Parts: sequence; structure tokens; C-alpha cells
Amino acid sequence: MAEADPIRRLIHAFSRLPGIGEKTAARLTFFVLDADESVARELSEALGEVRRRIRLCSVCCNLTEVDPCRTCRDPRRDGATICVVESVPGMHAIERTGEYRGRYHILHGLLAPLDGVGPEQLHLKPLLARLGDEVEEVIVATSPSVEGEATALYIQRLCRPLGVRVTRIASGVPIGADLEYADQVTLARALAGRREL
Ligand SMILES: [Zn+2]
Repeated sequence: MAEADPIRRLIHAFSRLPGIGEKTAARLTFFVLDADESVARELSEALGEVRRRIRLCSVCCNLTEVDPCRTCRDPRRDGATICVVESVPGMHAIERTGEYRGRYHILHGLLAPLDGVGPEQLHLKPLLARLGDEVEEVIVATSPSVEGEATALYIQRLCRPLGVRVTRIASGVPIGADLEYADQVTLARALAGRREL
């Protein structure tokens, strides 16, 4: 069906994006068709380029053009602490607080057994590979959801035998479902109020 009808194909492609329903997908499609040709060209080139040039950092799993990423290369960062986040926007949220000078690790998801997301789907192996002599503390900064808590406990079980302290950002602070939407002050407070797991 897709090849027979380019319009339906584009609607279908848009509707696979998060937060985009059938209706919005159709609206975007007709917008692109009505707009100047440069809109479609720019969109398709940008999509192609982002997939071609951006990859995962082999150390922290950040999205990057250079490997290791800029954060991992930064010698001013404290290698004794690794902050584990669910996603790249979560990492940026913590950066915006200006209160954290350690390193990061990005999981690209949370444990969700009911949705078929197990430990092997998360980027946990590269995290374990980093826990050498230098690392003293792993701060788990996943959201205070069921999945976020389950992931934190799982990480704690992985790290404890290696003699690394595992802490969790304060859960009493209402930071909503997503770290990326938390305001800087709240997030800084959650970070400062972290407790041992
Ligand atoms: Zn990195």
C-alpha cells in the first residue's frame, strides 16, 4: 500500500513518531505538500544527515558526532562520579542545573518487563565496563516512576558487588514523570538530596 500511495506513506511515517496521532500526521503531510519545496528538501536532508553523522559515544552512550563525546573528553570533569540517566534530554536537564561536574551514562530506556524491555535492551554493559578504580559513586537519576525505580534497584544490584556507592536522586522532590521537564532548582535539590540505595 505504501508504495502505491506516497501521501499515505508519509502520513504513516509521521504517525510512527511519538506523540503524533493519525490526525496530526495527516496535517503535517498536507503542510509539507502545500509548503515550498525547500521545506520537504530540508526535512529529508536533515533526517538523513542526523542518522549518518550521529552515533553513540562508546564510553557513555551519549549521542555524538565524535567518539568519545565532548563530555567524556572534557578533562575538567570529575571521573569519580557517574550520573546515570534514562535519555539524552535527561542528561541535558542535569547539565542545566550547573551543579554537577561528574560524568554521565545514558541508558536509552528504562526497565519495563511488561513492554518487553529487559536489562539487555539498556546500555548497561558499557556502564559496568567503566566501573574501574576511579569511579566511587554512581548516581541514578532516573525518573520516580515504577520503571525508574526498578531500573535504579537493578543498577544498585549490579554495582554493589564492585564496591561502588550507588545513590538515587531524592524522590520526595516532585520532578514529574520526566527529568527533562523538571525545573533547574528542583532538579538541583533532588541531586543534592540524593541518598544511598
Ligand atoms: Zn561520552
